[in-house]
Amino acid sequence: MGDVRMVVASANPDKAAEILAILREVPGLELVPRPTNVPDVEEDGATLFDNARLKARALVEATGLPAVADDTGLEVEALGGAPGVYSARYAGDHATYADNVAKLLDELRKVGAIEPQRRSARFRCVALVAYPDGDDIWVAGEVAGHITAAPAGDAGFGYDPVFAPDGLGGRTFAEMSPSEKHEMSHRGRAFRALAEHLATKGESR
Ligand code: IMP
Repeated sequence: MGDVRMVVASANPDKAAEILAILREVPGLELVPRPTNVPDVEEDGATLFDNARLKARALVEATGLPAVADDTGLEVEALGGAPGVYSARYAGDHATYADNVAKLLDELRKVGAIEPQRRSARFRCVALVAYPDGDDIWVAGEVAGHITAAPAGDAGFGYDPVFAPDGLGGRTFAEMSPSEKHEMSHRGRAFRALAEHLATKGESR
């Protein structure tokens, strides 16, 4: 791939740092931070793909450069896949992470999903690059686990204190270091797949 400049849509410093660390490995790719004067788009798409595309396209419009964006949802089996695309505003438009976690635990209680095996969940992340010529490429990353009975741990953000990935004895993402989390996380998996795709398929663009 020849040298390509690409804008990173995420303004969340934790997410942006993680995305930069993974995409920095792609040869010939120069990453540009999101310009501070570009307003946030309303994430009102029907799917994670739609929202990732809305965020990336807004940056392409503003900068004329290819842009990379991601969107994540927590899908809980006993709740029919909720909160899904509504994960950020599950408890309302201005909900805090704590409000969303409290609502999630409450909804699981209401449907009687008490034992861990009835609380299966997965995080799904779509990572997408939008190009100025109208083309998009995208990949998804997932991690399966369950929602714990109560929050545990102080690391991470969002639903991390109540999400325990499979195979790690019930520890939550909030009880792990960032590197341990992202070795298996939805976003780590999606962005490593995207990096591989850009490194190997980039020549054809
Ligand atoms: P976004 O699309 O990455 O902004 O994520 C939407 C919502 O999903 C966030 O507001 C968080 O509540 C939740 N979320 C996304 N990624 C994670 C994660 O890695 N851990 C916990 N919650 C997350």
